[in-house]
Amino acid sequence: MILVVCTAFPARAYELPDLGESARTTMSEAQEGQLGREIMRQIRVDKDFLDDAEATEYINRLGRQLVAASPAPYRHFEFFIVRDPSINAFALPGGYVGVHTGLISAARNESELAGVLAHEISHVTQNHIARIVDSQKGSALTSLAALAIAILAARSDNPQMAQAAIATAQAMQIQSQLDYTREHEKEADRVGLQTLADSGYDPAGMASFFERLLAKGRLYQSEAPAYLRTHPLTHERMADLQNRLGEMKYRQHADSLDFQLVRARVQASEGEAADAYNYFKALAGSRQSDDATRYGYVIAALRAGERDAATKAFGKLDPDLASPMLVTLAARLRLETNQPVKALAILKAGLAKYSGYRPLAYTYVHALLAAGRADEARAFVTERLRIWEDDQNLFRLLAESDHALGRRAEGHLAQAEAHILLDQPAQAMEQLQLARQAGDGDFYTLSVVDARLRELREREQREKKP
Ligand SMILES: [Zn+2]
Repeated sequence: MILVVCTAFPARAYELPDLGESARTTMSEAQEGQLGREIMRQIRVDKDFLDDAEATEYINRLGRQLVAASPAPYRHFEFFIVRDPSINAFALPGGYVGVHTGLISAARNESELAGVLAHEISHVTQNHIARIVDSQKGSALTSLAALAIAILAARSDNPQMAQAAIATAQAMQIQSQLDYTREHEKEADRVGLQTLADSGYDPAGMASFFERLLAKGRLYQSEAPAYLRTHPLTHERMADLQNRLGEMKYRQHADSLDFQLVRARVQASEGEAADAYNYFKALAGSRQSDDATRYGYVIAALRAGERDAATKAFGKLDPDLASPMLVTLAARLRLETNQPVKALAILKAGLAKYSGYRPLAYTYVHALLAAGRADEARAFVTERLRIWEDDQNLFRLLAESDHALGRRAEGHLAQAEAHILLDQPAQAMEQLQLARQAGDGDFYTLSVVDARLRELREREQREKKP
């Protein structure tokens, strides 16, 4: 972990042998998960938390593929994206792994991005975070507030936040403890490299990305990439990586189309809308243009309000729509030009082809609502919730459908379910109260509302106890 292990939680106090998964600390996996959820609760409401279903779906698919090849394939992981142009990624307690948009944008190929993720995953599977939090018991580190400040500040350019982080860091006497951090880094490199290779990516991706960062850091020392500032990359580490790589078989990995599309999507959403538009316009007109650059061009054009250019550029994209991301884009274009019926036809065909792709299902519900077919939207969401029962996006869409149909109590209950899944009990209780007051709830709805309220109150009581 780039930021938490490397800066915010330096290890100390006892020898950390290279033991991996079997070396559980006194901090249980459940406690670690609880700590992670608390931090995520704050990150999810941060303005830079990227609420983009397609990019999030992609990073979770990539992450899950790596976790499956890791030493702890059954552990809980959740990957999320933070809107931040600096090149960085970080792991939090409980398997929550954050990726900066700057990292996705800067990765030259999918194996490079997978390499950084594999390193982060290894910090979790090797219990580095748990060991460090454990060793800090009783100190300021166990204070959630300090932890959250350090995490948010370390990836922020806000000088006041950075000041707060420095103060926290000093309080934790970071300087004298970096040795153990290096051990963690080396172990994360070693385990991460194996995971990367075992999941079918090119293991050289990890080394090439780190090398490029190092070269960049030498050129611009004052503006070294965030990854280097928070994550000491030593020449010893590089040499270790190269040695291990020498013993591995070279393996070519072709980038998935979705990787290329997500990278273009992220690049098209960065910086000023006009700049992104001009950048992709030039790229799409050049000889190297491919489906990913054309896709980025459409996204940038829509963002800049250039609908005609977007529609024209889309015409040059792959008509077979070889990725569900192209299907949602095709539908979005129709929705933005007030053609919900056409959008629905595209989405219906897309759902038949990519039935497991959740963002497509979300877009379908949006299109049904835009077409004034809230009853069908509700039926579709209800059916999908039978398969994806923990999907907070579906509960949000269920709430929208209910409200469009005037079913107020059910709408608030659905909104409450979404808050419960996001670990936001206060907001959930508020919605449950609104559901009670709505006055149109039937017996069944109201009994679920009461049961949820009871559960939340019991949980509140439990968590108050030390
Ligand atoms: Zn690290």
